Amino acid sequence: MPDVLIQNARVLDGGQLVPAEILIEDGKIKGIAKEFRISSYDELINAKNAVVIPAGIDGHVHFRDPGLTYKEDWYSGSCSAAAGGITTVLEHPNTIPPVIDKAGFSVKLKRAQKRSVIDFGINGGVTNNIDKLKEIWRLGISVFGEIFMAESTGGLNISNNMLGDALSEIGEMDALACIHAEDEALRLINEGILKNDTGIDVHSRIRPNECEEIAVHDCIRINKEAAVSSRLHFCHTSTPEAVSLIAKAQKEFSSAGAGNAGKITCEVAPHHLFLSTKDYARLGTLGKMNPPLRSSDDAAYMIRALNSGLINAVASDHAPHMQYEKDVPMRSAPSGVPGVETLMPLMLASVRKNMLSLERVVQVTSFNPARIFGLDRLGKGSMDEGYDADLLFFDPKNVVPIQSKNLHTRCDWTPYEGMDGIFPSMTLSRGDVIWDGYQVVAKKGRGQFLPGAGLQTDEDGKPITVFDDDDDEE
Ligand SMILES: [Zn+2]
Repeated sequence: MPDVLIQNARVLDGGQLVPAEILIEDGKIKGIAKEFRISSYDELINAKNAVVIPAGIDGHVHFRDPGLTYKEDWYSGSCSAAAGGITTVLEHPNTIPPVIDKAGFSVKLKRAQKRSVIDFGINGGVTNNIDKLKEIWRLGISVFGEIFMAESTGGLNISNNMLGDALSEIGEMDALACIHAEDEALRLINEGILKNDTGIDVHSRIRPNECEEIAVHDCIRINKEAAVSSRLHFCHTSTPEAVSLIAKAQKEFSSAGAGNAGKITCEVAPHHLFLSTKDYARLGTLGKMNPPLRSSDDAAYMIRALNSGLINAVASDHAPHMQYEKDVPMRSAPSGVPGVETLMPLMLASVRKNMLSLERVVQVTSFNPARIFGLDRLGKGSMDEGYDADLLFFDPKNVVPIQSKNLHTRCDWTPYEGMDGIFPSMTLSRGDVIWDGYQVVAKKGRGQFLPGAGLQTDEDGKPITVFDDDDDEE
């Protein structure tokens, strides 16, 4: 017997919205049809004419747990995701301790399993731990990175010299290397030149477009020269220069027709689509993140590139800091903005404004991220039969102003205050309602770990991961 029948929904079919019913069995999509004519099921959901799309997969969040849980933890972060229509996240390694070895991985996995209301993958850090990369890959990390080519939050950066060795090691495992591309040398030079500059946009001038362009160029070159080239994914690209270089390298790759080695993808963060340096006047230090805000022309280019397919995915780079921590001079303010809960609402509102089609939004927030990060093999990123019933319900007419007070992150502000959003009226994860439009109704710890392709199991098929029994919860 099916578990759930969803009636009065509308789904995408060949670019058009059509009336539909959705059947769910064992947490997976059983089928979608105009009408099923069945009368036995455990649960009936009346979608009330809502549009239903695959829930978002956010490939870039920093949930600050372990270590800085006053900013966010796995419960608050995952509740924020659920309320924003995200049911899968990849969490990045720059926590305290960082995920750079077995101990760091085990602490994070244990916490996430206890607290997360949504499914999650854990990324492995790459710094001076090249001898540990194979070990954390076997433990089940999703992908490597973000690999910081310049100084950023958490201090996990790597020199260009070591990057080649790391990429070669990652290439050997046929894993994915996610790159935070900013050139450290140019950043340092600009820090010096602009030492006494108090301009509101100084952070964007210390890390100009060229900073990203040089790093992307270097990274592609280093990867080509590596003993074994790795698959590369550039996180939060923010400039036309970087996107053009990546597009060129992608073209070379597809004409070479080789296997996975050297394949390149990239993503953009909502703040590089919907905000620009013009917003510094409104945001001040709240608009500080890495890579920094760009011109409004650059932001317009990024939307075009997302539409045209040059950019493959959107990810929030959710990086919460409290308002009091940001309330300091620009240079000492921490970098990062929250965004996991506003990613889908902003994207859906952009459909309303004809900036993107709904079909493209689904591709860049679910279908593509699932394939880039290897989550499709775990049932993520599609509404086809057999995939996880991870669903986002929304009313396309329900545009509301984004307000920090309505969000579920522990972070007490949003850079999108007052901007248009279309929030989900319901979110399902593996067939369970986890957000009912008013509150998170999911049990803490229901979220499942999504192991990477390198996970090693014992003879019984059980992951080899072992916990140190004595590491304590706070
Ligand atoms: Zn980053």
